Amino acid sequence: MPFLIPKYLLSIRIKSPSPIPRLSLMSSATKARLRGVVFDMDGTLTVPAIDFAAMYKAVLGEEEYIRVKAENPSGIDILHQIESWTPDRQRKANEVILDFERQGLDRLQIMPGAAELCGFLDSKKIRRGLITRNVKESVDLFHQRLGMMFAPALSREFRPCKPDPAPLLHICSMWEVKPSEVLMVGDSLKDDITCGKRAGAFTCLLDEKGRYGSPDFAKLDLEPNFKVSSLAEVHSLLETNFDLEP
Ligand SMILES: [Mg+2]
Repeated sequence: MPFLIPKYLLSIRIKSPSPIPRLSLMSSATKARLRGVVFDMDGTLTVPAIDFAAMYKAVLGEEEYIRVKAENPSGIDILHQIESWTPDRQRKANEVILDFERQGLDRLQIMPGAAELCGFLDSKKIRRGLITRNVKESVDLFHQRLGMMFAPALSREFRPCKPDPAPLLHICSMWEVKPSEVLMVGDSLKDDITCGKRAGAFTCLLDEKGRYGSPDFAKLDLEPNFKVSSLAEVHSLLETNFDLEP
């Protein structure tokens, strides 16, 4: 039987609206509850260390790179590009990708503000997870260097990868929270913001260099809920826009 609001409740609401709550109460009542934050790794929790354009050129070849780039204005999904290749060609492509990622690992640096942000989330008992298209080996080294863990931390061994919403939905189900109670933070519109939006989570684009503006969001139909230029800004963004009470 469908749930019906009893008539007396309706009439109370119409005839005698409750007094307007104090502003502080009202704003906390309208803020969304936040139970978890999921981060991208490369370029978000770590300083960008992989030259992705050089990697794509090395995998695809100069001519193919130009063609694929023109076809994908929001960015190239290299893992997707090589999916239909022959096993032998794929193996070689994967070796090139791994080589670039290993070079990136040698230069791995934690993003300024990452440790402080983790401390803040811990103080509010907000969970933190990680989704990367990089390999598990890289995530392990990142955890070692930071000295703090993200859980779950899904690397590209978990398929399908971002921008598919599957990894984010998987984390939500492990945490037993709704996607609408989670914020996805990342530096890639095509991977992180797409993944977050498709899953139904809040999204925050980390745009250190001011690469993206409203026309890009409109063109790609990928408007993030928030945009910051450093991880340090995420702290006040969370306090202003979300209900963080444990
Ligand atoms: Mg990234």
